[in-house]
Amino acid sequence: MTILADNTLRQDSSLEILWQTLCVNLTDIAQRYPNAALASSLAAEDMVLTHAILSRSLPLAIFTLDTGRLHTETLDVIEAITQRYGQRIEIWKPEAEVVRAHVQAHGTHAFYESVALRKACCNMRKVEPLKRALQGRGAWITGQRREQSITRDHLPLEEDDAVFGLYKFNPLAYWRHEDVWEAIRYFGIPYNALHDKGYPSIGCEPCTRAIKPGEDLRAGRWWWESSDSKECGLHAGNLEKV
Ligand code: SF4
Repeated sequence: MTILADNTLRQDSSLEILWQTLCVNLTDIAQRYPNAALASSLAAEDMVLTHAILSRSLPLAIFTLDTGRLHTETLDVIEAITQRYGQRIEIWKPEAEVVRAHVQAHGTHAFYESVALRKACCNMRKVEPLKRALQGRGAWITGQRREQSITRDHLPLEEDDAVFGLYKFNPLAYWRHEDVWEAIRYFGIPYNALHDKGYPSIGCEPCTRAIKPGEDLRAGRWWWESSDSKECGLHAGNLEKV
């Protein structure tokens, strides 16, 4: 059962109402799960959540996964957060020896060869570090939105995450792309410079490209695969709902 306030019907979609609802929901999450954490990809949605948490000093942790294949622009966002809010977010990295062995066996660009090899790479660089980052926590928070792709079409505000065995909150589930950017401009929230170069969704450098006008917001992620397999394992539960 969803307990978070839900603006899904969007009868009043002003930024003020969206923001108030978001802050109430994040406060509620912090009370229900004091050890909950935002898993930030450092993309626009996660920066909105980061701003809500840090500007209100909400007792929620924030961490990111440095896969070792991120754009320089993405890494710059970590520094921008420190400068803006005076706080360092946690950084989790893959096991160096596991990465070395994988690259030795399959090469540096094996993810282009098959979905299986791509998922193996995502697993060692993202899923395994995420498991470590979530260890001991009762819940995690993501910046996923329903309109991002068909794999997120039925995204709930909160759900049992069977993949990681804890609770999961998606407080921006019903936000539109325009809402995210209105918030970023209104509050002057720092964001990844790649968003201004045609990248609405940003992952690792070799697996992300700019999109063309009219393309799906996540069309630039793993563009060589079909759209119903485009989750990296962090949100694998979405695939079962497609
Ligand atoms: S997005 Fe690409 S480089 Fe990054 S972990 Fe997944 S397959 Fe590997």
